[in-house]
Order: sequence, then structure tokens, then C-alpha cells
Amino acid sequence: MTRSQLVLMSVITALVVLVVAVSGSLAEHSLREREMAKFTRSLERRAMLVRELTSGLPFDVAQRDALDAIADRAQRAAAARVTLITSSGAVVGDSDVPLGKLSEVESHADRPEVRAALEGRVGSSTRRSDTVGRPLLYLAIPDALGVGVVRLAVDVSDIDGAVAELRHSLIVAGAIGIAAAIAVSFGLSWLTLRPLREMRRAADSIAGGDLGSRLTARGIDELGGISTAINQMAEQIRERIEETTSEKDQLQAVLNGMVEGVLVVDIAGRVLLLNDRLREFYQIPNEVFGCPVLEVVRDAEVDALLGEAAATDHAVSRKITTIRADRRTFRVHAVRFPAGSGSRTGTVAVFHDITEVARLEAVRRDFVSNASHELRTPVAVIRGYAETLLDPAELGADDRQSALETIHRHAIRLSNLVADLLDLSAIEGREVDSEPSRVDVAELAARLVGDSKQRIEEQGLELELAAPAPAWAWARRQAVEQTLSNLLDNACSYTDAGGRIRVSVAAEGDAVMLQVADSGIGISPEDQHRIFERFYRVDASRSRAVGGTGLGLSIVKHLVHSMGGRIDVESQLGRGSTFSVRLPAAPSDRG
Ligand code: ADP
Repeated sequence: MTRSQLVLMSVITALVVLVVAVSGSLAEHSLREREMAKFTRSLERRAMLVRELTSGLPFDVAQRDALDAIADRAQRAAAARVTLITSSGAVVGDSDVPLGKLSEVESHADRPEVRAALEGRVGSSTRRSDTVGRPLLYLAIPDALGVGVVRLAVDVSDIDGAVAELRHSLIVAGAIGIAAAIAVSFGLSWLTLRPLREMRRAADSIAGGDLGSRLTARGIDELGGISTAINQMAEQIRERIEETTSEKDQLQAVLNGMVEGVLVVDIAGRVLLLNDRLREFYQIPNEVFGCPVLEVVRDAEVDALLGEAAATDHAVSRKITTIRADRRTFRVHAVRFPAGSGSRTGTVAVFHDITEVARLEAVRRDFVSNASHELRTPVAVIRGYAETLLDPAELGADDRQSALETIHRHAIRLSNLVADLLDLSAIEGREVDSEPSRVDVAELAARLVGDSKQRIEEQGLELELAAPAPAWAWARRQAVEQTLSNLLDNACSYTDAGGRIRVSVAAEGDAVMLQVADSGIGISPEDQHRIFERFYRVDASRSRAVGGTGLGLSIVKHLVHSMGGRIDVESQLGRGSTFSVRLPAAPSDRG
């Protein structure tokens, strides 16, 4: 039961109680009045009768015997106590008092009804009788003969009985009235409050987020108007929320589609928004709305940059390298928004991933310094010897010959270097003109081994080929040739006389495996992953002595990758090395 129902029921009950009480007391009063008047009238008539009975007898103490006897008789006739009183107030006859005791009865002159009768009027009074101990109605009339008073008294407790009966009936009627009032008020309030309860339920569920909840339409009265208004309000809220959600989704979709990471924080440095890219950059898996930026990004530099941007009207930009293992480098631009206004609400930061750019920059720097270093030596040597040759007086014929040979050797070295650099830049720049086609690597290896066999064996090395069956790769013929030739050259260069070189070709599932194994000096494990870098040489002087440029394996790696293949090396110091090239096999249906 609601509070308002309780109030309504209490008010109605109180009203019923009030009405019953007021009307009950009025009814009781008028009943008592009417009964009393009836009693009085009947008593007066009976008193007159008694007066007639006593007419002729002087009310005198001397006549007490006769008067008392008359009083007793009159009592039977009048069905009331009869008292005969002299003009002085002495009782000379009383139906309720034995004759012998009459003399002891006190004077009745001060009794109100007696006083009135003595003054010649009919007097009446209701009071509790000391003699009989019950409420009595006394009525006194003056004696016709002018002396004495005839007084009659009747018990009026009957009237009280009648009034009590009436009161009892009123109480029963009141109780029924109250019960009916409670039931009616409960029903009425339930009916009246039902639409309000429905409205409240709908309003509660709308407030609780159920925007689909609607009130049933009800008429055009006030409640109907409120229902319509609530329904319209819910509809508008739903539309607004849908709009906002779709705008937010669009914004998030745009942000997530960006290559840059985006982070928006509020004025207190708590995260308002971020995109998927930033999650990826900083490996943020969870929902972080409202978390402090330092907790989310775990980078004091980012936190400091946002703080700086929040304190100025200008955009702040900085290069930040993460402290995590992947060490990514970002160019971060941060600006507070709305820019330039006094009411700052936050800061937005955009993270551009420049890791690759930074890496390429470093590679370029290294390359330029390595290339210049490599070029400087032959150029300096050539220049030195050329200057010496310009002054022929100082040189003997042998020296001149030796100087010319040195110049020749370094010129070849220079030309090798330039040729390798051009090759490398062509491969890196994807300037390869030929398209891949079916290449029988076994046949190609056999031809190349055949061509180099004599030269290699002259160096005191044994060359062996194991290419039993055709092995068709999807590759560029020239690139495979150059790859094998470089690997073979290296095997010769880094294997001492008496060693063995073995070239093998075999089809392996969806790949063609080309291997060049030697029993040469081998490569230490820490150098193995670096030998594919440009200009990297384990032993620079040995490389130079054999005409190496430090670019051969770098070219091989790029060629193999450009054909969709891969290259690996296995090597043990002093035991030899095996370079394995896997190339994609040519599908049988490709021509
Ligand atoms: P280079 O012109 O110096 O041979 P490469 O790029 O071909 O340049 O090779 C890089 C380095 O790798 C060489 O300097 C050498 O130290 C090492 N290397 C290459 N092939 C072999 C091999 N078969 N055995 C031992 N070391 C090798």
C-alpha cells in the first residue's frame, strides 16, 4: 500500500468517525431530551392524581399517619415514589420511608423541585437519590390547597438503558461505516492511483535506460496529457541517444580507421577517447575510459607532453621512442581543445609511427658512411700511385709496373663496388625488368657449375653437384644465376685449398631447395645473422684480398626475397658453411 493510499484511507476513516460521533451524540441528546419530557409529562399527570387523592387533608406533621398511608397507596397507583412535604419542607409521608423513620428525614425545603413547588410552580430535577442509590427524576407540584407539596420520583435509569442501546447501535453502525469507508477508499485510491502508478513504472524504466518502454494512451484528460508527454519525451530521448551513439560510432570508426594513434584526455589527464591504433602501439587491451594517462600508456614522456600541451595555446610536437622492447618511435602532436579558448576541456594527441622512417634514415646514414669508407680506399690508392707515376724520374721500371698493377687492381675493386651498388639499388628499387617464369634450377646449376668447374679446381678446390632431377621454380632466371654465382664465389673465397664445395638442387614440397655447402672457414654464430647486411664482413682484409665488396650476400638476400623465397645459413667455425635458398616451386599448370 502506498503512502498516498494510506493518507486517503486515514482521512476518509477520520471523516466517518467524526460524522458517526457527532450524529451519535446529537441523537443521544435528543433521545434523552424526548424521553425525559415524556417522563416529566407522565409524572406531572400522576402527581396531579396524587394531589387529588390528598385533597382535603392538611399537610401537617400531626396528620403524618394518614398522609404516609396515602403516600403508600398513591405509590401503587402512580407507580412512582410519592413524598408529601409540608410548606416548611418537612416530610410528612413517603412511600419509600417507613412511618417510624419519617421524623428522622431531613427537611426537603432546599430540594430544587420542592423549592419551585413551594413558590407555586411545578418543579422538576434529575439526580441520584441518596436513599435508593439510582438516578431519579423528581417532580413536585404545589398543593391545591396552598399548603404542602406533592412530589413524585421515578427511576430514570431506563432512559440511560435506552440511550446505551442507541449508543451501542451507533457504535456498530459506525464500525460498519468505517469498514465500508476503508474498503471504498482503498478501492477508490487504487483505481485513482493506477494510472499514476503506471506512469511512475514507465518513468522509472525510462530513467533506468529502457527507452522502449511506453505508456498506454488514455483519453484526453490531464493524465492522458501526461502519458502522451512522457511517451514523447522517451521517444525524443531515444532519438537523441541513437543520434549521439551513431555519431560516436562514426567518430570511433573514423578514428579506428586512421593510421595514426589518437588519444584524447580531459583536463585532469584522464582518458576520454582512444583509437585501436593507439591500443596497438601501447598494447592497451582493456577499457580505460577515465583512467589516468600514465597508467594507460605507461610513458612519462607522453604524460609530460600532454601536460605541456594543456598549459599552452600552441600545438606541441615531440619525437618519442617507447621504452618497451619493440622500441617504436612516434612523432606526437598534442594540442588542447577547444584551441585558444579560455574554457579548456582537454587535450588531443596524435601519434604518427615513424619507426620505419627512423630505421630507414639510420640505414641510409650507415650506407652513406660505409659506401664512402669503402670507396675512399681504392680512390686514395689510385690517386697516390697516379701522382707517383706523374713524376717518372723517381721510379724505376719495376716500381712503375707495380704501381700500374696496384692502380689496376684498385680500379677493378672500384668498378666491382660500383657495379654491386648499382645492382643493389636496382633490386631495392624493384627495377627488375623480367617477370618470373618457370626455371629449371637443376639445369641452371649444372650449367653454372660446369662453367666454373675448371676455375675452381685450379684453386685446389673440389666441386661437386647433386642435381639429379629437374626442379622447376617460379623465379627470374637471371636472379637465380646471380644468386648461385655469388654463393659459389663466396664458397671459393672462404675455403682454403684442398677444401670441398657441393652444390645441390632438389624439389621440396612446394619449394625448390638450392644449397651451396663448403668445408671452409665457417662463420661464428654471432656473425651469422649480420652477414646479409650491406658492407658487413667478418674479416675485412680477407674479403678485400679476394676482391670482396661486402655487398654480395646483401644482393643475394634481396634477389631471393624479390622472388618470394628465403635464404638461411648454417655454419660452424672451421668446419664450413651451408647456404640454403628456398624458391617457390612452379605450379605445374603455369607455362
Ligand atoms: P664479401 O664481398 O666480403 O664476400 P658478402 O656479402 O658476400 O661480402 O659476404 C659477407 C661476409 O660474409 C664475408 O665478408 C665473409 O666474412 C662472410 N662469408 C660469406 N660467405 C661465406 C662463406 N661461404 N664462408 C665463410 N664466410 C662467408
